[in-house]
Amino acid sequence: MAIKAYDPENIFAKILRGDIPCNKVFEDDHVLAFHDIAPQAPTHILVIPKGSYTSYDDFAENASDAEIVAYTRAIGKISAAAGVVEDGYRLIANTRDHGRQDVPHLHVHIIGGTKLGLMLP
Ligand code: 5GP
Repeated sequence: MAIKAYDPENIFAKILRGDIPCNKVFEDDHVLAFHDIAPQAPTHILVIPKGSYTSYDDFAENASDAEIVAYTRAIGKISAAAGVVEDGYRLIANTRDHGRQDVPHLHVHIIGGTKLGLMLP
């Protein structure tokens, strides 16, 4: 199955354009992070690159080194600022159909603040 092109009408593209509000946690030139609207744990933050990347594989292949460094470091900084680093947390990037990705703009979930359940297939 062919990988779909980026859909500029996806909900995170609308958040990036300011068409839809978000509860912002962090922003720089390359990255935006905000609280998930339906948190699955006490800490549930979504970190997205500002560029139009559908998924991690798309980002890894097509983003600039500056974007990749900014995104990687931001995920670390935001996790630390959220206070989950010492006790532990989970980073998740659901990807396409089998990964149950709902929003087709790359996002890493930072989930923590409690002992999480086991991840099942
Ligand atoms: P996915 O299943 O694509 O990995 O996760 C998408 C996430 O985006 C879900 O956890 C969902 O709760 C969150 N989400 C969907 N729509 C919105 C929204 O409009 N605002 C925020 N902040 N989160 C959203």
